[in-house]
Amino acid sequence: MHGLFADDMGVVVETTVLVADDSNFFRELIREELESSGYRVLLAKDGGQALALYRSHDIHILITDLEMPVMTGLELCWHVRAADDQHRTFTILMTGDSETARRVEAFESGADEFLAKPIDLPMLRARVRAGERITRMHRVMVEMLNTDYLTGVANRRHFMERLEQAYRAARETGSPLAVAMFDIDHFKAINDTHGHGNGDLALKRFADNCAAQVPDGGFLGRLGGEEFCLCLPAGDLESALARVEAIRRSTAGLSVETGTGAGFGFTVSIGLCLDRDTVSVNDLLARADEALYFAKRSGRNRTVLRGAEGVVVKASFYVM
Ligand code: GH3
Ligand code: MG
Ligand code: MG
Ligand code: MG
Repeated sequence: MHGLFADDMGVVVETTVLVADDSNFFRELIREELESSGYRVLLAKDGGQALALYRSHDIHILITDLEMPVMTGLELCWHVRAADDQHRTFTILMTGDSETARRVEAFESGADEFLAKPIDLPMLRARVRAGERITRMHRVMVEMLNTDYLTGVANRRHFMERLEQAYRAARETGSPLAVAMFDIDHFKAINDTHGHGNGDLALKRFADNCAAQVPDGGFLGRLGGEEFCLCLPAGDLESALARVEAIRRSTAGLSVETGTGAGFGFTVSIGLCLDRDTVSVNDLLARADEALYFAKRSGRNRTVLRGAEGVVVKASFYVM
């Protein structure tokens, strides 16, 4: 049986195949064949419908006819490739044309494979199986490349990539963003007192707790060691501040069970900065870092906001 895979959380995910063809006969032929092999199949009558389905579903494999109304298979492949920068979808273009130039054109528009019409069913199965293998392997590799192994949050490379994108988007739309830099307090002492394994556990607990509080449009990454960074859509400063203060307070309430005794707690210091008046991502991060340094120096377990000039003490956080 093909078409069923466990993702990295152990959840079984069906392999979804989108079939675009203006011929009812071919659509049904392919559907029957693939459904009986265990695939989940979605059908589209033209390129426009296919593109809409592509945008609303996670498609593993796209099988598209070449000549279709509204949008040709070549155009559809081109749109999918343009939207799919992580290459999550394996595309197969069907054509009755055996001319080499046409097939080369198919590859150039972003198709991964072609299938001759009239369809040979064993060949269809073989191509889909190969495509499934490739897209599954590709997805696992991208996931590994982007994820911090210990905590499961974005690693530094992936976080920076996303932050660069978010920063550019914020420039274009004028809607501000904020970054919060986190550094766990006295982490070296945690390792020394409770052992490295329990230190790892504390990092995991922190990341899980933090990840659960990331709002829509925000994202979290581990920059390294016991340093994490959160990017927030800063609709207003008050809500960004409330968000990171909630993370700080809940962190202080976490308990790491060591197996022996009562477990231990820890705290985190936070530097917060808005992208306003910054010239680059590095500038933004440097300012958040500066605020974090100030949080450490002024006693830890607090949030410092890097704002205009001067330092104003306000409840548990400072504005510098
Ligand atoms: P401060 O409050 O000033 O931040 O002090 P600190 O002890 O947290 O900071 P310091 O930079 O001196 O120590 C960070 C420690 O984090 C040192 C390093 O061994 C430890 N560390 C880095 N990565 C990991 C990891 O993946 N697991 C564990 N258990 N420890 C790590
Ligand atoms: Mg057609
Ligand atoms: Mg540190
Ligand atoms: Mg630290």
